[in-house]
Amino acid sequence: MSDTGKSPQFDAVVIGAGLTGIYQTHTLLQLGFSVQGYEAADDVGGTWYWNRYPGCRLDTESYTYGYFCLKGITPEWTWSELFAGQPELLRYANHAADRMDVRRHYRFKTRVTRAVYDEAANLWTLNLDDGSSASCRYLLSAVGPLSATRLPDIEGIRSFAGESFHSSRWPREAGGVGARKVDFSGKRVGIIGTGATGVQIIPVVAETAGRLFVFQRTPNW
Ligand SMILES: Cc1cc2nc3c(=O)[nH]c(=O)nc-3n(C[C@H](O)[C@H](O)[C@H](O)COP(=O)(O)OP(=O)(O)OC[C@H]3O[C@@H](n4cnc5c(N)ncnc54)[C@H](O)[C@@H]3O)c2cc1C
Repeated sequence: MSDTGKSPQFDAVVIGAGLTGIYQTHTLLQLGFSVQGYEAADDVGGTWYWNRYPGCRLDTESYTYGYFCLKGITPEWTWSELFAGQPELLRYANHAADRMDVRRHYRFKTRVTRAVYDEAANLWTLNLDDGSSASCRYLLSAVGPLSATRLPDIEGIRSFAGESFHSSRWPREAGGVGARKVDFSGKRVGIIGTGATGVQIIPVVAETAGRLFVFQRTPNW
């Protein structure tokens, strides 16, 4: 690999502001790099920003989830539940981002749409969805294994006349950061999927729904 001497705008770019991206940005800053982060959402949190469905919580014990390697951050946090719920996880992500002071290094509501590596120049060029571009020496992808949403390819899904929700795009309360409380009482509700998310939503919706239909294509286990 040769370096033609072209200077990148940033030493490093981090894509994503979930738990991984926050920590990567912090670490790179500690190393003295100039860092720019890009996040499609309007704030930090990743998984816990996008998933606000009823019943959303950790299925691993809370203490395993904190940045226990970072002294000065975790000791301040006492988890309120053995398996923390989404609101607490989002608060934790915000707290961690503030403690690491990484928020100001991010551009939110900005999606990276393309990344091209020029081997001769040892330089990454990124395209962003606002039409601008950026360049960097090191590109770190922290886009998460589960952050892309996919609606099932079911005929009529887009013209369905009732209310419908995707678990990871649950509507937010007006002007707030929490989830909008959806009133299922007395209604006929269908839930598609019985994986980790389904088993969290189903018992909560079942508390008030008039009738609940659960659709499972393939059992998980
Ligand atoms: C509902 C749910 C429950 C889970 N429970 C657990 C659990 O109990 N224990 C456990 O260990 N793990 C759990 N996970 C897995 C979880 O994904 C990881 O633990 C962890 O939160 C992933 O963090 P991350 O930062 O790597 O990715 P994410 O949190 O997914 O963050 C990725 C971020 O990248 C952004 N992004 C993606 N593409 C682009 C782009 N092109 N441009 C700009 N931004 C982009 C996304 O908007 C997102 O905010 C759960 C996942 C889900 C969905």
